[in-house]
Amino acid sequence: MSSYDAADTATRVLVLNSGSSSLKYQLLDMRDGARLAVGMVERIGEKTSRLVHTLPESGGDSSDGGSSGGEGGRERTGRFADHAKALEAVADELAHDGIGLDSPELAAIGHRVVHGGLRFSEPALIDDGVLAEIERLVPLAPLHNPANLLGIRTARALRPDLPQVAVFDTAFHTTMPEYAARYAIDTATADAHRIRRYGFHGTSHAYVSRRTAELLGKDPSEVNVIVLHLGNGASASAVAGGRCVDTSMGLTPLEGLVMGTRSGDIDPAVTFHLRRVAGMSVDEIDELLNKKSGLVGLCGDNDMREIRRRIDEGDERARLAFGIYIHRLKKYIGAYSAVLGRVDAVAFTAGVGENAAEVREAAVAGLEALGLAMDAKRNAVRSGEPRIVSPDGARTVVAVVPTDEELEIARQTFALIGEDRPAIA
Ligand code: AMP
Repeated sequence: MSSYDAADTATRVLVLNSGSSSLKYQLLDMRDGARLAVGMVERIGEKTSRLVHTLPESGGDSSDGGSSGGEGGRERTGRFADHAKALEAVADELAHDGIGLDSPELAAIGHRVVHGGLRFSEPALIDDGVLAEIERLVPLAPLHNPANLLGIRTARALRPDLPQVAVFDTAFHTTMPEYAARYAIDTATADAHRIRRYGFHGTSHAYVSRRTAELLGKDPSEVNVIVLHLGNGASASAVAGGRCVDTSMGLTPLEGLVMGTRSGDIDPAVTFHLRRVAGMSVDEIDELLNKKSGLVGLCGDNDMREIRRRIDEGDERARLAFGIYIHRLKKYIGAYSAVLGRVDAVAFTAGVGENAAEVREAAVAGLEALGLAMDAKRNAVRSGEPRIVSPDGARTVVAVVPTDEELEIARQTFALIGEDRPAIA
């Protein structure tokens, strides 16, 4: 059998997303995007770790914005001392189902890597040089890149012969023009410390903007889209003809929209004030703005379902938090309408964007001058499919487009390792 034949039958991609104490994974078949296994290991390195492994029905989409299980789940608790032990346990689970890491159908492993800096505008086939570059970017993502590196090194040790690909959260945003990416601070200082706007959630913005074009029956090069990725983390992007021209997150994921626990945009002098007047340390301010702000800081809850429930009961703090969240969202829709000039679609995605009809309704309300309108009946429909929620004939289409970062990572990984393989949407 020629190597071409062997490669031809290898149609599966394992996607790994490693955090500092967690490892999420999905095994996908790239002939049709079917999910063969989905799971995660939590609390790696702690006293009791937990592995949850599920076998979704083939092609099953998660329809509720969460990572809900599916059929045939298995759970294991024990102690996985490090990422190597966790991945070995995952490999055992996959082998138990006859879809192990050594099966000839496995074509590659795709790794989510948070920060690719300016160096990576595309996915990269991992070698020692790429690993060194990701390492060099650690100061820009001190929490994430080391965890991502750990996952890559562990997977390489287990299958050194298998192609492994890094797919970067920042890559989609590298097309931003310099005037959108640069902060208006001293150029020499900015350059010396690589301070600029990088943006995040890029894999989701890429996927959703492309799917939105499909929903409109157009090629991505023909449409301008505002993507609103509203999850616990949240970001907006302006995508012109398939290329990102602006996004709301910056040097770090702290900038931009009001999020579950992050403040989003504030006057940077707030931090000086907290340091000088409130006597807080830099680490305390970091924690305040990243973990104790946003919706949770405003009203004590970061789950939109809980906030809506409280509003229905007449809770004023929850109502104000919701109002601040929506006000910021509207400002970004307006700003990106100006950046794009012509907006063909506004696409809502991620946990809040896909599920919270009230957020979509409130964000669009009053923006008729921008061509935006909502069809209340369509907006109330719950579905895991991409769908239009604006009335027929609206100048700008409002859409709900469920994101799928794992499928996008798998797609980019598969595309990189062989041009002559079957392509999926
Ligand atoms: P993500 O980060 O994309 O997983 O989104 C998580 C967030 O989605 C949660 O914190 C909730 O605020 C929100 N969410 C999930 N399901 C719903 C729902 N049915 N209604 C409103 N918000 C939801």
